[in-house]
Amino acid sequence: MTRTVYVNGEYLPEDQAKVSIFDRAFLMADGVYEVTSVLGGKLIDFDGHAVRLQRSLDALDIRNPLIRAEWLEIHRALVTQNGIEDGLVYLQVTRGAPGDRDFAFPPADTPPTVVLFTQNKPGLADTPAAKVGIKVISVEDLRWARRDIKTVQLLYPSLAKMMAKKAGCDDAWLVEDGAVTEGTSNNAYIVKGNKIITRDLSHDILHGITRAAVLRFAREAQMEVEERAFTIAEAQLADEAFITSASAFVMPVVEIDGVALGGGKPGLVTARLREIYLDEVRKAAI
Ligand code: PMP
Repeated sequence: MTRTVYVNGEYLPEDQAKVSIFDRAFLMADGVYEVTSVLGGKLIDFDGHAVRLQRSLDALDIRNPLIRAEWLEIHRALVTQNGIEDGLVYLQVTRGAPGDRDFAFPPADTPPTVVLFTQNKPGLADTPAAKVGIKVISVEDLRWARRDIKTVQLLYPSLAKMMAKKAGCDDAWLVEDGAVTEGTSNNAYIVKGNKIITRDLSHDILHGITRAAVLRFAREAQMEVEERAFTIAEAQLADEAFITSASAFVMPVVEIDGVALGGGKPGLVTARLREIYLDEVRKAAI
């Protein structure tokens, strides 16, 4: 089945969808994105992603070309047309294609480029990695200083991911001034006793939609949450570690820079949080 994608108001087969070579995202990474997961044919935390999209667009002064109901309609249409039970909807908005290259922003009436596509991931919530956990290495965080804006400027996270793969690991935790900021495409956590520790929100990290939900559920379940920076050395002494993202949900981390945590097995707090998270978001999915 050919995938149907959405480009600037049209639903098209993927091989007929086109964006200009002058698009600001192609030339300057001048665009933002969101990834919303789909479980059982329904969107997980759609509103969280819609709110963050607006926040990213506002930060860069890009006009939001659609209203919530239109975004929702496109998401649902693509999920239906592509028969997605479990998977992802990727959304990108750019500052448009002014027809030439210039550092200055194009005129305000330049229409933003809008692209959405689905990724089919059968069994997304039952991935074997959730049972065995993932291994991470630490690498220096060399990204720009506004990581709270979800831009398509993903070269350094991509390089860091490849460094991890080269080292026989699954992902990298990024470290700045001696403390972990986040993973290449996820937020990072450690667990000590019954306490969940994750970096506080600032310009240094992406404000994860999954992070917000997981911390809310953790507090509701009477778990202790501490939002502060931690070092790799502290993480290596923790009882458990995990990451969160819209596509990985809550994923155990069992090794950090070659040091095994919890005997190299996913921990109980992480497993419980994953279960609570998946139960709750499935119930609220739209
Ligand atoms: N941090 C970074 C750098 C990310 O790229 C992502 C996922 N896009 C996250 C955190 C997790 O955010 P979310 O839970 O909203 O997917």
